[in-house]
Amino acid sequence: MKKAELKEYRERLVALRLRLRGDVTQMANSALKKTRSESNGDLSSMPIHMADIGSDNFEQEFTLSLMENEEGTLDAIATALERIESGAFGQCEECGVKIPKTRLNAIPYAALCVKCAEHSER
Ligand SMILES: [Zn+2]
Repeated sequence: MKKAELKEYRERLVALRLRLRGDVTQMANSALKKTRSESNGDLSSMPIHMADIGSDNFEQEFTLSLMENEEGTLDAIATALERIESGAFGQCEECGVKIPKTRLNAIPYAALCVKCAEHSER
């Protein structure tokens, strides 16, 4: 991969990391500290039956599980940045084939080719 391309992916990864970190912090704050009365007012326009008792817990659990995924993404981004430095970026960690650019453009922190990613998800 050309240096200019690597630089571009690095910039995208760094930008993505910053954005995710901001989101994680924000989500942690709202999941752990906010109560319904403090939330941003969207709920007041909801019909009463949708704002029933008990959904707070559900919302909190949902947000926290989403955060765990984001932490995983942050790890993947950190690994991808290391691989840019070591020159391994763009190669599948598993089988070593070149990861197609279309995939890297969609998921710049992808460490596996499509085949291996499908395999590891099973
Ligand atoms: Zn592979």
